[in-house]
Amino acid sequence: MFFRLNPEARMVLGVKKGIIYDFFINDTYSIKGEEGAVLRLAEENIDSKGISKKLDISEEFIMDIFKKLNKRELGEFYEKPPFIEPLHTNYPFSNKTFFKQPPICTKLFVELNNSCDSQQCAYCGNEKLNRLFSCMGCNVWKESKMEILPVESYVSILDQAIKLNFREIILTGGNVFKDLDKLATLLKYLEKVNFSNVILILHEKHFKEDYIAFLNQFKTINIALNFDIPINEKASEKISKIIHNLSQNIFLIGIINLSKFGSKEELMEKVNCEYKKIAVKNKKNKVGWQVDFSSSNFCKDYLKVPIFGKSRLLSPNVFLYEWCQEFNPCLGGMLNVASNGDVYVCRVIKEKPVGNILQEGSLSQVIRSKKNEIENFWHLTKDNIKKCRDCEFRYLCNDCRAIEKDFLQTSLCTYDPYKGRWFDDFSQKR
Ligand code: SF4
Ligand code: SF4
Repeated sequence: MFFRLNPEARMVLGVKKGIIYDFFINDTYSIKGEEGAVLRLAEENIDSKGISKKLDISEEFIMDIFKKLNKRELGEFYEKPPFIEPLHTNYPFSNKTFFKQPPICTKLFVELNNSCDSQQCAYCGNEKLNRLFSCMGCNVWKESKMEILPVESYVSILDQAIKLNFREIILTGGNVFKDLDKLATLLKYLEKVNFSNVILILHEKHFKEDYIAFLNQFKTINIALNFDIPINEKASEKISKIIHNLSQNIFLIGIINLSKFGSKEELMEKVNCEYKKIAVKNKKNKVGWQVDFSSSNFCKDYLKVPIFGKSRLLSPNVFLYEWCQEFNPCLGGMLNVASNGDVYVCRVIKEKPVGNILQEGSLSQVIRSKKNEIENFWHLTKDNIKKCRDCEFRYLCNDCRAIEKDFLQTSLCTYDPYKGRWFDDFSQKR
């Protein structure tokens, strides 16, 4: 008897366990190592007798595995070896067999300046604390104080970003309000060309009341508003005013210092309490909410953070699965332009720019001339990363290379693929 997984079911094996992705209902089904070994041979169209011989296990045991999967509607029995074409969204021949695809661009960060009068945040740029979602905050970087890009260059960058099909443009600083004329020119340009997937990154510390009328001219942008946790009274009032008066989608990002909390329970209690403060005050206005974490030593503190546990797993779907097979889930398609024209592959990994807009003439020219260098980062899939390459979750797992000490190794994750278990069961069961 032959058994094959259905076209929408894909098996991924780790060293100890495996999972079957079910793209029909976007769920996963966990399998043990020996079940994976049986299925691997079944997927090669070897029948139950042949598998029994090869693995030296009883046919009854093999049939039990097949029946279990059949009951879960993950596979079917066949009298003869079948031909099963797995579900995919990319036409297989387009996948570099006959020609190279043009670059697939996702997120473009554009730094409007590299300065801030506040300069008080210990998690800013290269300061002493690292921040988990540093890319979604404002930062002043030590290495690129010079700001030489004129406003026309910024407009040209946006123009090219749209032609290159970037899906999201994130405007950030320093303090994005430092030059209101420049900000207005860029937001007007994006509005004129009907590009609405724009995020403007602000810090509560930068905000003045006059900016409300200014920002309300630009209805389609999204605002990522950073602030510190614990929230002091003054900041809390300011945040409420912003939420009540701005007409855009607002996403709150509260930053909390992990080192101040002894345990994850203590930390989460504080986070929930601060969330309630904001939520109660602003219950009529819907805003997104995300906690960000800072630490002087993530290797010591990461066990307190849910996102380093099971929460790092994304909902499975065929697009994500295919994306993660080709691209790094975060770096893939992303670029960052600093205010001196330097282009980086990440907003935070800033050791060496891949090029400079002023020297090379344009953003597209940088991408063209540094294609291989850029694509090495974009295509840094988890198959290339130590520990992840042995893990069955590698095509549905979030990633941040900037926060890891070793670019090619994952340390900040509570899953042990060699034992097949999470050693911190903090987040909910999947
Ligand atoms: S407000 Fe932003 S740019 Fe200013 S110091 Fe803080 S993190 Fe840095
Ligand atoms: S980070 Fe790596 S080891 Fe951890 S769950 Fe994701 S793929 Fe597995």
